[in-house]
Amino acid sequence: MGLEEKLPSGVLLTTVEGLAGYFRKASLWPATFGLACCAIEMMTSGGPKYDLARYGMEVFRASPRQADLMIVAGRVSQKMAPVLRQIYDQMPEPKWVLAMGVCASSGGMFNNYAIVQGVDHIVPVDMYLPGCPPRPEMLIDAILKLHDKIQGGSLGVNAEREEVEAEAEALKL
Ligand code: SF4
Repeated sequence: MGLEEKLPSGVLLTTVEGLAGYFRKASLWPATFGLACCAIEMMTSGGPKYDLARYGMEVFRASPRQADLMIVAGRVSQKMAPVLRQIYDQMPEPKWVLAMGVCASSGGMFNNYAIVQGVDHIVPVDMYLPGCPPRPEMLIDAILKLHDKIQGGSLGVNAEREEVEAEAEALKL
């Protein structure tokens, strides 16, 4: 009799990747990193009304070394870009980035020399969230979609991320 037949039905058989994804998505810890008006909505998401803690994210970490999710909440100025990159580099792997709002995603209405036209020029972005500002429900929805991505993610090298890393290197950030 094979192993599958001996195990009672309902026993979860999964791959190592699936198991790792399950645990990773269930304990994302965001870095405390607000840049502009979008940050107000991000902070509200952690409060009692929206209760982000329901998804295993009860604490925003003050140290990037204790965080695995960067929520870029607001526009990124050229002067802030190297700082943002440094914080990202200080976060341990595996890590993810969520661009919150149109400013972080594409520069938004600030189409000028002072603002980075999309944070994906600086760090690899895993999830884009439109809106100005996105409401807390929208942020939570984006986080849940990121959960799905993490769950289905691979343990190997992320080719997309490698590409952005090369671009950032070329810009000498
Ligand atoms: Fe502010 Fe809107 Fe830009 Fe968010 S998207 S930082 S709310 S201007």
